[in-house]
Amino acid sequence: MSVDAELATRDVVLVTLDSCRYDTARTADLPALSSLGPLQRAESPGTFTLPAHAAMFTGFLPRPTEGCVEVAGKRLGSIWRSAAARGRPGDGGISFRAPTLMDHYADQGYRVLGAGGVTFFDPTHPCNSLPTRFPEFRYFGRVAASPADAAARVVDRDTSLTLAHVDELAQTCLQAERFFCFINCPCTHIPYTSPAAVLSEATAVLLERLYRLHDAGPSAAAPRPLDAAEAATLQNMQRRCLEWADARLGRLFVQLAHRRPLVVVCGDHGDEFGEDGRYGHGHPHPTVTTVPLWCGLLER
Ligand SMILES: [Zn+2]
Repeated sequence: MSVDAELATRDVVLVTLDSCRYDTARTADLPALSSLGPLQRAESPGTFTLPAHAAMFTGFLPRPTEGCVEVAGKRLGSIWRSAAARGRPGDGGISFRAPTLMDHYADQGYRVLGAGGVTFFDPTHPCNSLPTRFPEFRYFGRVAASPADAAARVVDRDTSLTLAHVDELAQTCLQAERFFCFINCPCTHIPYTSPAAVLSEATAVLLERLYRLHDAGPSAAAPRPLDAAEAATLQNMQRRCLEWADARLGRLFVQLAHRRPLVVVCGDHGDEFGEDGRYGHGHPHPTVTTVPLWCGLLER
């Protein structure tokens, strides 16, 4: 069996670290993610959660800026390739013809499971199409339709984080003969809180200002921009949340390793901290479109 054909029969874990900047990942201590393979600098096809995931679910993952994706030492044009969307032959990877990766793996008899925490994945919201593409989806975040001003969104988070539930997710995967498990991680998304990054009085004030900067855009009502030290404080919170995610993913990997799954972990987009005058994501700034990517095969 060729390497590509062997890849196509593996169980799958696909993880998105929501809003995680590439430079946050480059400066973090990430033993579990590093065990998958080298950190790759990639460009996302979307600048916010909805288009980035819609593209990913059709096989268009963030692409390494060097052009090839590295999996277990092999360089591929892409991990997955929609033969339906791209008629000409590809350069490696898993070819599929179904509308989405989830349809493809379900057609192959896999248990297809999704889990999420940012509000685009709340299945109770009538505008949210992403979770409806999964036969089975678990949502742990806040209710998307709930009104929340800047102050109300600045909260410590624990069980609302998807990776707080890795044992349950691993058990669900292991019940199946084959599985495709997608996990969206909100811990790296504003407000950058997790059990490893709890709020202080100062960071709560800073985050509330950041939310108001997000919401105001370039209007005259915008509060004072962040200075370099304030931006560094927020990015350090994102880094600590990413390191917490790494520890939780390490716990997941240990439980799933005997199934030897293909694992792909990436940012869906980054966040701008005012580098060129804007905040958050949803606009094509390099800090928004450049994301981290790791790919690898877990082994026993
Ligand atoms: Zn996102």
